[in-house]
Amino acid sequence: MDSYVELFRAGNALEANALKGLLEQQGVPVRLLGEALGGAAGELPVDSQQIRLLVQQCQLSSAQQVLTQYQQNLAPWQCVCGEQNDGHFEVCWRCGSEPQA
Ligand SMILES: [Zn+2]
Repeated sequence: MDSYVELFRAGNALEANALKGLLEQQGVPVRLLGEALGGAAGELPVDSQQIRLLVQQCQLSSAQQVLTQYQQNLAPWQCVCGEQNDGHFEVCWRCGSEPQA
């Protein structure tokens, strides 16, 4: 049996579900902990601010890659031309260059 390990703590349900959707697209099953308060009383910490994403241990490395990509996609990046681009732009909106890794 595969045990679930913590991958990430999301700050809110929106983020948790966005990431869960991405992971499941990649074939990584996800469990959310902390979302359904009242379901498993006693198990959950009181802070409902954070939602823990759990993945199977054997999927952890691929899940981490998805997570890294997700975080990079959110981060703004600066183009060689000096333009600051939002994370969801794959190329610079101004000059069309791709971000330099
Ligand atoms: Zn540019």
